[in-house]
Amino acid sequence: MTRAASIDDIVTRGLCVGCGLCESLAGADKLKLGLNAEGFLRPKQLMPLDAETERKVLAVCPGNVQRVEGTDSPVDVIWGPLKGLFAGYSRDEEIRFKGSSGGVATAVAAHMLNSGMASAVLEVSADSAAPLHAVTRVAKNRSELIEGAGSWYGPAAPLRRMHELLDKGKPFVVIGKPCDIAGVRNLARIDPRVDRLVVCTISFLCAGLSSFGVARNIIAGHGVEEKDVSLFRFRGHGCPGMTRIETHDGRAFEQTYDDTWSHALNQAIQFRCKICPDSTGEQADIVCADAWDNDDGYAHGEKEGRGAILARTERGLAILKSMQTRAELEMQPLELSRFERMQPHHKHRKSVLVARLLGLWLGGQPVPDYKGLRLFSASRFGRRYLFSNVRGMIRRIKSGANRETLPAGGERRE
Ligand SMILES: Cc1cc2nc3c(=O)[nH]c(=O)nc-3n(C[C@H](O)[C@H](O)[C@H](O)COP(=O)(O)OP(=O)(O)OC[C@H]3O[C@@H](n4cnc5c(N)ncnc54)[C@H](O)[C@@H]3O)c2cc1C
Ligand code: SF4
Repeated sequence: MTRAASIDDIVTRGLCVGCGLCESLAGADKLKLGLNAEGFLRPKQLMPLDAETERKVLAVCPGNVQRVEGTDSPVDVIWGPLKGLFAGYSRDEEIRFKGSSGGVATAVAAHMLNSGMASAVLEVSADSAAPLHAVTRVAKNRSELIEGAGSWYGPAAPLRRMHELLDKGKPFVVIGKPCDIAGVRNLARIDPRVDRLVVCTISFLCAGLSSFGVARNIIAGHGVEEKDVSLFRFRGHGCPGMTRIETHDGRAFEQTYDDTWSHALNQAIQFRCKICPDSTGEQADIVCADAWDNDDGYAHGEKEGRGAILARTERGLAILKSMQTRAELEMQPLELSRFERMQPHHKHRKSVLVARLLGLWLGGQPVPDYKGLRLFSASRFGRRYLFSNVRGMIRRIKSGANRETLPAGGERRE
């Protein structure tokens, strides 16, 4: 099977997830993320990397490699390692309201800071200076964490500042998409500081990351120009929360999360997410998700914040239990069969992945190195979609759907 031969190969063949780990490892003076023409954050080399650095980047890049090592947790073929499955929400009312689905991710991070188990949290939030873009942030307290609460469905690269925190030598938490956390685990294989300093990883179920163009189109649909935007929020401030735009001259616009997801985000997801082997954060300690009331995977109106919570490791479970004991978290057991009905799309994605990878290979494209994710076992649930997914992937490759451009030089920093 052909693998990507270089960082440019990873980008131009549509394998980059946009996590920022390559920039963190190589140094922003040599390699820097910028928006490409397709509206995704991608690395651009500013000067040639030495062979050793490029080799390390290829080894840790989660677009190129995703390998899950042994676990002592019971493993479900589709849902991965599970020490516990719950439904719940943060008992801090502000965090519960401002978070996407009960604020559990923010509450866990706040607990880690308040208890002294971590000194910082690596995460993303909207850029206050350019609200359609996300920035990588190091949060040090509850109010900084609250600024980062809510889902950012556009390009966001939490790992850009990973080495900055490793170099500080103090324990920290990482919040990111499943692929971001896979990058952290890849790095742990070559940098022993990761296992010592990253004291908790928090992820969420992820249906895919969309182009920057979505945010631009949403504001344009309300007759707003980017220079006039003072606030842009995909969701949060309610569950799921409205998409909200505010302008410097005092105008405000809202549209429902269902409109934003179904008519915009859903249509502009990066190619790499179509061949994602782990949309449920198998390598994180704790995973948060929406706990939809219906069985179709959609929101259908607003409700009080509440989400599903997956404890994937002993450490994750211990943190959640300790928060429950201290009345920081409301948490009740959730049946796996109920959770599966809340999240129908993720089972399908996992079960057709082998077929899509086969199509990628038959289309003559480099295939990422996936191990330990039970893709063959999961494919028994997707047998009847096998041929359509192989054919569909070959068609995509022929139409150039996986092709992406490198960012042009001198662009905006994020
Ligand atoms: C691209 C994307 C796709 C998603 N798809 C699904 C799905 O299919 N099913 C589902 O149940 N849930 C999905 N979610 C997750 C869901 O929207 C909630 O984020 C999740 O339930 C956690 O809610 P919370 O209230 O516990 O988190 P909050 O307390 O609101 O905290 C969210 C945390 O996530 C971080 N974050 C937000 N966006 C990003 C990003 N793009 N990259 C890295 N870190 C980020 C923030 O910095 C913050 O720390 C998705 C989220 C994103 C960003
Ligand atoms: S997936 Fe991450 S590490 Fe790999 S090239 Fe893209 S930004 Fe860099």
